[in-house]
Amino acid sequence: MTPTDPITCDIVLVGGGHSHVAVLKRFGMKPEPGVRLTLITRDLLTPYSGMVPGYIADNYSEAEAHIDLRPLAAFANARVIHAAATGLDLERNFVQVGGRPPVAFDFVSIDTGSTPSTANIDGAEHGLPVKPIDRFLEAYHRLTNEIRGHDGPFHIAVAGGGAGGVELTLALSHRLRSAAPSLDKAPADIRFAIVESEDTLLPGYNAAARRKLTRALSDRGIDVHTGAKAERITPDTLALSNGEALTSHKTILVTSAGPPRWITDCDLACDERGFIRVNDQLRSPSHAQLFAAGDIASMDGHRLPKAGVYAVRQGPYLADNLRRAARGEPLKTYRPQGQTLALITTGNRYAIAARGPLAFEGEWVWRWKDWIDRRWMKKYQELPDMAADGTDGEDTLEAMRCGGCGAKVPATVLHRALDRLPPQHKDGLDQGLDSPDDAAVLTPPPGKALIQTVDQFRAFIDDPYLFGRIAANHCLGDIFAMGAEAHSALAAVMLPHGEDDKTSDDLYQLLAGATETLAEAGAVLAGGHTGEGAEMAFGLTINGYADRDTILRKSGLAVGDALILTKPLGTGVLFAADMRAKANGDHVTSAFKSMQRSIAPCIPVIRNHQASAGTDVTGFGLAGHLLEMLNASGVDAELDLGALPVLPGVATLVAEGHESTLRPSNEESVGNAVPLAAHPSFPLLFDPQTAGGLLFGLPAGQAQACLTALRDGPAPDAAIIGRITPRQGAVGVVTYAGASE
Ligand SMILES: Cc1cc2nc3c(=O)[nH]c(=O)nc-3n(C[C@H](O)[C@H](O)[C@H](O)COP(=O)(O)OP(=O)(O)OC[C@H]3O[C@@H](n4cnc5c(N)ncnc54)[C@H](O)[C@@H]3O)c2cc1C
Repeated sequence: MTPTDPITCDIVLVGGGHSHVAVLKRFGMKPEPGVRLTLITRDLLTPYSGMVPGYIADNYSEAEAHIDLRPLAAFANARVIHAAATGLDLERNFVQVGGRPPVAFDFVSIDTGSTPSTANIDGAEHGLPVKPIDRFLEAYHRLTNEIRGHDGPFHIAVAGGGAGGVELTLALSHRLRSAAPSLDKAPADIRFAIVESEDTLLPGYNAAARRKLTRALSDRGIDVHTGAKAERITPDTLALSNGEALTSHKTILVTSAGPPRWITDCDLACDERGFIRVNDQLRSPSHAQLFAAGDIASMDGHRLPKAGVYAVRQGPYLADNLRRAARGEPLKTYRPQGQTLALITTGNRYAIAARGPLAFEGEWVWRWKDWIDRRWMKKYQELPDMAADGTDGEDTLEAMRCGGCGAKVPATVLHRALDRLPPQHKDGLDQGLDSPDDAAVLTPPPGKALIQTVDQFRAFIDDPYLFGRIAANHCLGDIFAMGAEAHSALAAVMLPHGEDDKTSDDLYQLLAGATETLAEAGAVLAGGHTGEGAEMAFGLTINGYADRDTILRKSGLAVGDALILTKPLGTGVLFAADMRAKANGDHVTSAFKSMQRSIAPCIPVIRNHQASAGTDVTGFGLAGHLLEMLNASGVDAELDLGALPVLPGVATLVAEGHESTLRPSNEESVGNAVPLAAHPSFPLLFDPQTAGGLLFGLPAGQAQACLTALRDGPAPDAAIIGRITPRQGAVGVVTYAGASE
């Protein structure tokens, strides 16, 4: 969607499963004018089921077996909310998300998969569920330590003898036995058993495939128990329904898929097991605004196995039907395929194929499966470069919108958003948001200096709540860098034109994020102005108070002082890459965390260590803000480029040539004062920072103690990055530690 398309329809995708990756890709290839996509996902790296057993067996790396949802969502121009959905309100059409405001939708689509059912197993808390797969692999590392520390043979029981259970057992036995010497065990001392409640393993598979897989298990010395249910788990046994008790130091649950718990509180039509019922258009029969696909869905009239292959096939139909629903067009019918090709791997780059009554096996089957899986993954891991504007310039809601005062957001929109915010009251704020007057009225504390600052941004991320949180933290940085306390703020908001309920919800999400951050800083929102523009923008004017003699200034650096920076650099590079769908999801998440970290708690620490001068590093980059300090203090500085703290992933992006559009002008504006250096971190001197760290000087003798206190507390990434040197010329200059004269 282009920034000027009015938003008329919100489609919210919950979960980044196999069907939703297809929805994202298709909307990226062909954007739908007026439709805004939002992806709510618990994990940014979503595993591809076809490669999961190979990933467990160590045949694939994490990157090979996962799709990074962040670049895919950026490609689709979809907003990403990195959090788990916790509930649905199908009367008001909200998805509830823990720890943040609910997310409104016109259509919602659910593809959150399933986890093994533990309904009839006592002591299930002692078991290890195979899904979510990444939690399982985290536990795998603890499991290896348990095996190493265990005297004698270590027994692992797998509850569930379907394709998933058999494949997992073979993959895990291959990996653990290969690793046995490093676990101080003989391979035969890591013992496996598999338990299946039906009379045969792999119910639903043809006899030939079952024979081949049973032989593969037997060749590995894996005990098979059929016709018996796993009933009770203790730390070292698994009791079965036939009275047997197996020794099991770790019981892994690959039981049949259980219903999701987070949708139980809405009156959504579900099947007898608790999965969401859908018709052959993948739409809920009870709520037309809801679609579902993959394991979480149960198609009326079919009993589809819970297998990724169905979620994959449903993806294109789901994408099409969401688009058609948004347009108000008739939906398409999805007919599940009758026979599917099953390819089951045995851990050692060998696989068994089954289709209809046929079964065949070999290393070539593994290579064939590997080729199919890699080809599928490539579609989502290697995204084409698309023009930002994929629309054809069709009619918009209105050809021209008014400017000037006519560009104000309607009062109803504003009030609906403000009514949802918590009350904004504080001593010294005599009149604020809830007063009908034209301006806020403040009474400053006697004897204090009023410290004011203003900052404004175009939205650099598409989640308005997170944008509000980060923007507010950025704006507060100036107040804290002056050593002041934040009191109140006035907001300036620009919102793209859309339907009133959408604009009002965006405004609420933005202000909810901003007021939360203000509240954490002890401040309130006292008023503001909202207007319409081509894209979302937000700024805050912040009022703070300080005792005049404790104000921290840029001047005051002394020769010999050490320089400390409290946060890693690289937000500009990272967001430039993110806009091009080239940034890794986990790296962007680390940057979000860093940008939400307040510099306020650093102030008492640096004061305790006699800080001489300070500033926050923002739009002009480290070099620009450092030079302001050098010129205000009449000194030069020597930087250690190798000591600069850098956000995860940024070094690689810099090496690949990613940079913020502001970097060249930041570099140009400092001219010769910051000479060129052949160091990989040199470009980061000019990278504009959003909610960047505190840069300050302090006596060299205090530097190590201050750094330790910062790293152990409010600034884990803080680093000593240089020292102050005597002024050589008319203006401040930077030299580099270790550089030859
Ligand atoms: C060991 C094993 C091997 C398997 N091998 C195969 C195989 O070879 N072939 C095959 O077809 N199937 C296989 N399966 C089955 C397959 O894994 C599932 O059927 C498939 O993953 C289901 O896809 P999905 O799209 O429904 O959900 P998933 O792939 O499970 O995706 C769900 C997504 O939703 C996210 N999510 C979950 N809860 C929330 C929430 N509350 N809010 C927001 N996001 C959420 C998750 O982070 C995840 O990204 C295997 C299963 C196991 C256990």
